Amino acid sequence: MSSNKGSKSKSRVVVVGAGIGGLTAGALLARRGYDVLILDQAIVPGGCASTFKRRGFIFDVGATQVAGLEPGGIHKRIFDELEVDLPPTTPCDPACAVFLPGEKQPINVWRDREKWAVERQKQFPGSEPFWQLMGKLFAASWKFQARDPVLPPRNLWDLWHLVSSIRLDTSITFPFTFATVGDALRLYGVYGDKRLKTFLDMQLKLYSQVDADETALLYAATALAVSQEPQGLYHLQGSMQVLSDRLVEALEKYGGKLLMRHTVEKINTKSGKVTGVTIRDLKTGEVWTENADRVVANVTTQNLVQLVETDSIANYQRRVDKLPDASGAFVIYLGVDRAAIPEGCPPHLQFLYDYNGPIGENNSLFVSVSKAGDGRAPEGKATIIASSFTDAQMWWQGTKEEYDKLKQEYTKEAIERLGEYFNLSPENIIHQETATPRTFARFTARDRGIVGGIGQRVSTFGPFGFATRTPVKHLWLVGDSTHPGEGTAGVSYSALTVVRQIEAAK
Ligand SMILES: Cc1cc2nc3c(=O)[nH]c(=O)nc-3n(C[C@H](O)[C@H](O)[C@H](O)COP(=O)(O)OP(=O)(O)OC[C@H]3O[C@@H](n4cnc5c(N)ncnc54)[C@H](O)[C@@H]3O)c2cc1C
Repeated sequence: MSSNKGSKSKSRVVVVGAGIGGLTAGALLARRGYDVLILDQAIVPGGCASTFKRRGFIFDVGATQVAGLEPGGIHKRIFDELEVDLPPTTPCDPACAVFLPGEKQPINVWRDREKWAVERQKQFPGSEPFWQLMGKLFAASWKFQARDPVLPPRNLWDLWHLVSSIRLDTSITFPFTFATVGDALRLYGVYGDKRLKTFLDMQLKLYSQVDADETALLYAATALAVSQEPQGLYHLQGSMQVLSDRLVEALEKYGGKLLMRHTVEKINTKSGKVTGVTIRDLKTGEVWTENADRVVANVTTQNLVQLVETDSIANYQRRVDKLPDASGAFVIYLGVDRAAIPEGCPPHLQFLYDYNGPIGENNSLFVSVSKAGDGRAPEGKATIIASSFTDAQMWWQGTKEEYDKLKQEYTKEAIERLGEYFNLSPENIIHQETATPRTFARFTARDRGIVGGIGQRVSTFGPFGFATRTPVKHLWLVGDSTHPGEGTAGVSYSALTVVRQIEAAK
């Protein structure tokens, strides 16, 4: 069966995936007059930023904190254009409490700039020149990003929008284009400061997938500074789902349509140009072809090459194949009695348990704790969500029994580790559940359950990353594989770029 149910006069756009990137692109396109259909294989929209409910608790699947909600921030700009209210929020202060191995007092990443400067001077004496450089690079990079550059450029229009975002104030960043955070630490003679280096490794791994030695300095300057005012990180009241819900509301307000439990099995092309998609209704098993003038794929680059016939994107496929392995996540979701939570517990904590181990595989946990009255837990209860990076491939090897055993070991170890800070006596744990890369693959359809994009190494960030344009005409890529990378704010930039490019092409 083949159909084109959209109106004849409007340009027809099919969006593959209702993650924050796909929903944002779809809602903006609907607002700008396109006939939009979004398809998602999951039960609820939001992908890695969705939620699930268990025994009165609401758990955020992946993303728990949001950047870009302040005036001028990317979510705020997009919600303004969509004429939808931003969901209610509470600022995270400290944005994160970071515990180094064996230390009982955390390094608090305060929201107030001055307070954070005092904290880091106390924690890492002698490192202030390094932080001053980071501050300057951030100020320049932020102004540059606010001018909506297109990165990496793939045609003259992109190049024009990149070049016109570069001003005199951007010039300070040029000498650092190929530098890593490790290079800057060496430049200021603080590379040997083990606590500082470890703190940076831990925080950067969260935002860029890689440590200080590998993370591109210009990316790090922004990632490390968005926790402070006038930017800042926020918790959404209710749960992360409200972000997707409001985007769906906007999509439908402007005549767009969302179909859940529909998987796109193939993106169809003819003579190097997109023609539509092949869809399977997962409830009925019905398969059909939907014609489209444009297709926006809200998937990873690794998924994209599986959806498009390889010979039309052979070079692209080779580039994807050469990417370093992406991480997976192991996540434990706990519904607990409030008695489990220490007095004054910050909303986000990060623990490293051993200086010699890798930052991942349970040696490090990033923890998000619900606040009383934030809508995630019944009265007197709370949610604790802890995640660690893990080798995604490892979870696909061996038998079902071996997989179950590995999962049990990871769960036991994570609970023991968390028990060092929280009171996790059996009577305090009401619900317990875990997610591995296999879980992420199933619920978000991400290849092997990899999360967080392609990483922000010098070779893969900004100008050297994957573009929103693909080698197939009228096929666009949106999401955390593209500039500026992972996070709901990042994928919203990516969506806005695609929408501008589609408009320009029209
Ligand atoms: C454990 C964890 C913690 C995180 N913490 C944070 C955080 O605190 N703050 C933050 O900002 N970010 C965080 N992130 C990152 C953030 O969640 C992601 O970068 C972002 O949500 C990705 O959005 P996306 O639009 O790229 O796509 P995704 O979230 O991957 O969504 C893609 C959607 O497309 C659908 N789909 C894919 N293929 C198909 C197909 N063929 N047919 C139909 N549907 C398809 C999927 O079902 C999914 O709904 C975290 C991620 C993880 C895993």
